[in-house]
Amino acid sequence: MKNLQLAKLENNPEGTVVQAGSVRIGEDFCLIAGPCSVESENQTLSIAEEVKGAGASMLRGGAFKPRSSPYSFQGLGLKGVKILAEAREITGLPIVSEVLDPRDVGWMAEFVDVLQIGTRNMQNYSLLKEVGKAGIPVLLKRGMYATIAEWLNCAEYILSEGNPDVILCERGIRTFETYTRNTLDLSAVPALRELTHLPVIVDPAHATGRRSLIEPMCMAATASGADGLLVEVHNHPEAALCDSDQSLTPDDFKRLARRANALWRFMKNGWGERDRNEKDSTGMKFSLEDIP
Ligand code: PEP
Ligand code: MN
Repeated sequence: MKNLQLAKLENNPEGTVVQAGSVRIGEDFCLIAGPCSVESENQTLSIAEEVKGAGASMLRGGAFKPRSSPYSFQGLGLKGVKILAEAREITGLPIVSEVLDPRDVGWMAEFVDVLQIGTRNMQNYSLLKEVGKAGIPVLLKRGMYATIAEWLNCAEYILSEGNPDVILCERGIRTFETYTRNTLDLSAVPALRELTHLPVIVDPAHATGRRSLIEPMCMAATASGADGLLVEVHNHPEAALCDSDQSLTPDDFKRLARRANALWRFMKNGWGERDRNEKDSTGMKFSLEDIP
């Protein structure tokens, strides 16, 4: 792929592991969950406890929200980031939050474990250069109009500033389909495996925009070989200030976490050499029946 230097697979065919707190993305299955936006201390702490209990590996919440309308809720800003830091203190979960402005990168990196670059900012090159100097991992979402090559070149911007810790996140691209919010491009997962050593996670929430489609697409993403999932969880989804239609209840998330973890173990361990050679599934370490 043209111009790809640091991101290309040849540099680390085994795959890069990005560490955030005690979570090793690219090695462990990484389940990122939390409210679309931090709305209040109560709301965030309660969701944090719920997702932690259900098996989330990281807590995600937006303090700066990139909204289509300037009149929609824009996020709590610094106050929201402090609430997330408090949630990490209580639960021990590393925190992920989106940064919108290059001027906020420095101070936000002091509070959060992973900086998220949202779809609308994937090609904001000054922001990419700034997070490239932040010294903490970056979760780089795919631009909704971006090709895989353009996306990888954006990762290259971050890597070339000296930050090796980039996690790619497929979150759906715009197509003519209107039933779903975007179209989840799951072929991007195995395609990226051929091209880059960076870990890849999938966000079916922003891709589909529909609660009912999230679990099936999480399972499909896990089966496609993703290193993790990003989903939105709210204790009262109907009242969420942002992305209410795609927010899971804590119970939905609990079931999803059990199933996706079981499938991930199967994907990792189930197709052992012996099974593949003998075309016999009885020797699988994990059978699909493990999926609750
Ligand atoms: C989000 O993660 O809440 C978000 C705004 O996502 P995206 O940038 O993918 O739309
Ligand atoms: Mn959202």
